[in-house]
Amino acid sequence: MLKVNNIDVYYGAIHAIKDVSLEVPDGEIVTLIGSNGAGKSTTLHTISGLIKPKNGSIIFEDKDIAGMPAHKIVGMGLCQVPEGRHVFANMTVMENLELGAYLRSDKAGIEEDMKKIFDKFPRLLERKNQISGEQQMLAMGRALMSRPRLLLLDEPSMGLAPLLVKEIFNIIKEINESGTTVLLVEQNANMALSIADKAYVLETGRIALAGTAQELASSEAVRKAYLGG
Ligand code: ATP
Repeated sequence: MLKVNNIDVYYGAIHAIKDVSLEVPDGEIVTLIGSNGAGKSTTLHTISGLIKPKNGSIIFEDKDIAGMPAHKIVGMGLCQVPEGRHVFANMTVMENLELGAYLRSDKAGIEEDMKKIFDKFPRLLERKNQISGEQQMLAMGRALMSRPRLLLLDEPSMGLAPLLVKEIFNIIKEINESGTTVLLVEQNANMALSIADKAYVLETGRIALAGTAQELASSEAVRKAYLGG
């Protein structure tokens, strides 16, 4: 579904992403793990069109989307969930969700998706008329309102209490089981590897390791560096 080929990304003189290639097969959960500053967010932002790569290609369902504007990419079915604090804080939960569907005009489909999202996230239903709240879940719900085929998630567990982290990972699994392909960026490597099919390890802007999630979870190098021994 997605093939990133040899991309390089610079912030001025800083070479943040170095010759990165990765693949996300249709229907799978692929995770990108790595420590702070490794370049995980930059990789996601480049795929979703917020940053332009200096070179390389990003093939989404047979089209090169590298350098295309972000709204065009969303319209093609690829949506990034930013960290939870990027929801619209002065709008209600419901208004935030409605905005997620701003490129769609199929009213019945939008209503149907809104119901599905409230089923998946009962916490959002309880707060649908409140100003914002449950920000991480709201950010995910809002992205789902664009009916994406590929969902990019940037550290969905960040800042959440352990119980909520479990809940979020269960929901990611459910979203995937109902047909959405997922590229998941996480610092919580344990949780990410437990739900992913494939995984990549990013170190200082380069892919250091790649394999099935099982292979990486049992690799000694990964255990030592990212799984607490
Ligand atoms: P984190 O989990 O801390 O967000 P990350 O793996 O997502 O880390 P990035 O945020 O992609 O890493 O950062 C990769 C590198 O690029 C880092 O060295 C960072 O300092 C640098 N960087 C990120 N954003 C910018 C920017 N807007 N301007 C300049 N340098 C940046």
